Amino acid sequence: MERIDGHTLLIGLMAYPIRHSMSPTMHNNAFAKLGLNYAYLAFEIDNDKLEDAVQSIRTLDMRGCNISMPNKQKILPYLDKLSPAAKMAGAVNTVVNDNGVLTGYTTDGTGFMKSLEDEGLDIRGKKMVLAGAGGAGTPIAIQAALDGVAEIAIFNRDDRNFETARQNVEIINKETDCKASLHRLEDSEDFKQCLAECDIYCDATGAGMKPLEDVSLVNDPSWFHEDMIVYDTVYAPRETKLMKIAKSAGVKHVHNGLGMMLEQGAEAFKLWTGKEMPVDYIRDLIFNEDK
Ligand code: NAD
Repeated sequence: MERIDGHTLLIGLMAYPIRHSMSPTMHNNAFAKLGLNYAYLAFEIDNDKLEDAVQSIRTLDMRGCNISMPNKQKILPYLDKLSPAAKMAGAVNTVVNDNGVLTGYTTDGTGFMKSLEDEGLDIRGKKMVLAGAGGAGTPIAIQAALDGVAEIAIFNRDDRNFETARQNVEIINKETDCKASLHRLEDSEDFKQCLAECDIYCDATGAGMKPLEDVSLVNDPSWFHEDMIVYDTVYAPRETKLMKIAKSAGVKHVHNGLGMMLEQGAEAFKLWTGKEMPVDYIRDLIFNEDK
């Protein structure tokens, strides 16, 4: 608390519901560790209060904020500028205020890519199968394509996100060298075939997380092969049903979404402060049950 004074800069988190978020704990501990004069607070903001809340970033001269559901897409008209990835994804999770000019970024995709790099894994030039086209799946697809993944097969079930999946495929094929294709999750033969040929499978659907902890989109270990990467964006629980099945198939690289969560935060932290977040320190401090 000694660090809070008349000069402290405020960073907010605007979402609803949001009280469960780990982001305030993560960022405030990182500010304290580096002796930075910022404070990070969560605000319960739904779509109806979003415009006023964004204006308050300028009014209060806040340094910026994180944006989560249900505001990631809705915030776009209230911002002055967008990063290329945020523009392509049509979504923002981080806002930076430079003297009243608000720029929107999306750090979920860069967080995903950085978390692979942290594990010594390079998926540039490789084939990816991605399930999901929501708040996580969309920026993951866009960033993977921007960073040089060669092919992405996007699978979605027949719900309202199927249209988003279609848009993601279109924009990737138009704006990047990556070859994206659209697939129906209901087509098991196609799904199995694409998994057999891919280098990385990423599940960004929320299957495996409460209340779907007993759900995995892949249930037959023989659909996986040892040399691939299986990545679940879920991090609670740390080991999902999908991850257990992948391990039983002998898959060498099986990861949960904890690294992505930390690295998306670290990227936002750097955008606000210009400093590297002490990621290992934060991982040990907050997620120490993994030690
Ligand atoms: P969302 O609701 O925006 O999108 C969910 C997507 O999964 C949609 O495409 C939907 O069609 C599909 N889907 C949902 N339930 C399904 C099911 N039972 N079977 C098949 N497809 C299904 O959600 P989101 O914000 O994209 O979050 C998805 C997951 O990613 C969640 O588990 C979330 O915790 C995780 N996530 C992790 C991080 C991280 O940093 N690790 C960040 C964001 C989200």
